[in-house]
Amino acid sequence: MADDLLSRHRAVLPDWLALFYQEPIEIVSGDGRRVTDSLGRTYLDFFAGILTNAVGYDIAEISDAVRAQLDSGVLHTSTLYLIRNQVELAERIAKLSGIKDAKVFFTNSGTEANETALMLATQFRHSDQVIALRNSYHGRAFATVGITGNRGWKASSLSPVKVSYVHGGYRSRGPFASFSDQDYVAACVDDLRDVLNVTTSGDVACMIAEPIQGVGGFNVPPDGMLGAFKEVLDEYGILFVADEVQTGWGRTGEHFWGIQAHGFVPDMMTFAKGLGNGLAIGGVVARPDVMDCLGASSISTFGGNPISTAGAKAALDYILEKDLQANAAKVGSQLINGLRDVSEEHPVVADVRGKGLMIGIELVGPDGRTPSPEAAARFMEHTKARGLLVGKGGLYGNVIRLAPPMTLTEEEAEEGLGILTESIVAVDKEIAG
Ligand code: PMP
Repeated sequence: MADDLLSRHRAVLPDWLALFYQEPIEIVSGDGRRVTDSLGRTYLDFFAGILTNAVGYDIAEISDAVRAQLDSGVLHTSTLYLIRNQVELAERIAKLSGIKDAKVFFTNSGTEANETALMLATQFRHSDQVIALRNSYHGRAFATVGITGNRGWKASSLSPVKVSYVHGGYRSRGPFASFSDQDYVAACVDDLRDVLNVTTSGDVACMIAEPIQGVGGFNVPPDGMLGAFKEVLDEYGILFVADEVQTGWGRTGEHFWGIQAHGFVPDMMTFAKGLGNGLAIGGVVARPDVMDCLGASSISTFGGNPISTAGAKAALDYILEKDLQANAAKVGSQLINGLRDVSEEHPVVADVRGKGLMIGIELVGPDGRTPSPEAAARFMEHTKARGLLVGKGGLYGNVIRLAPPMTLTEEEAEEGLGILTESIVAVDKEIAG
């Protein structure tokens, strides 16, 4: 890097900020599904800034909406004033949520959205107890780290809420890994009942779950599993919060919200990432009685600001008008099928899983079972060298994550598949050797 940005980064930013790649890159521009770094190298982007660029880069409709807002001179106003874009965006999200008479609160990130959901649930239920899935990730602040069930991201063991973890997250390595879908769901429901009776006093505030775990390695539970949980929770009056930060906006292909695969409408949903297509925005959409349960006033200085909401409105329109959900389903299947074919002959790949454009490739060592973070690290370098950006995650850091912009074309999917195939072949050889 010309001006040694990496050394300057290390000197002044926290050590705990994770960076991808042996030589981290600085992305300076983007166009469609491609980004260019400060050294002039162009990459096809299959991670979309951890799913933030839902629609892709340099989309005129979104840039124009943001520019018009900037040109009006209104840089920021805070929720102490009326913000038209905010009201209009809230109306659309409330309607799309399926929650009756839903209300929306905007934040600046997914973390803040989940912090808000936890505050609402704990106030509504007068309880500080929360159920989360093992292997979950919900954010980087005090309460959200407290409910994150993945040691690698659990930066603090202290927590303002009492959390109990249940099975239903990382299925392929848990004690129920060999179970059929039906038996797996039954075992997880039994576990939930057991946890409620053993580690809580029953009056739990909420359960929070990602419909497909993101940071945890794109773990897809059987359809309907969270609905089966909800039936148990209803016996206790416990609220359900769907963390849609990664799964929302049609990314899973078959549904607009990931939770719809589970056959019920949650009490609250949290969202962020893709909505702003790169701009900072998140939020909570909730039942009106839950949203309005707080006993004091509140305000957000930046949450739902005119610029982020202008961009988000344009991004949401783009997703709906171009039916990007259908595209995610189509190119997602193309990628999953292609990867499954390749993986059959390469034991370094233990599993290819996912829905729509959330695809995980689980990599293992020569014994065909032990998680191999080394294989994942090598894989990342191979794809980068060939001009493709991918992500990684999972409890053991051994799952390659693919989440391209939802505008990905079939040709780009094929191009990416070629690089992924070459990288699988290369890593398979290196790891086996
Ligand atoms: N929830 C989930 C499911 C996430 O994946 C993330 C971010 N990886 C968050 C919450 C936190 O979002 P943010 O980084 O915007 O705070």
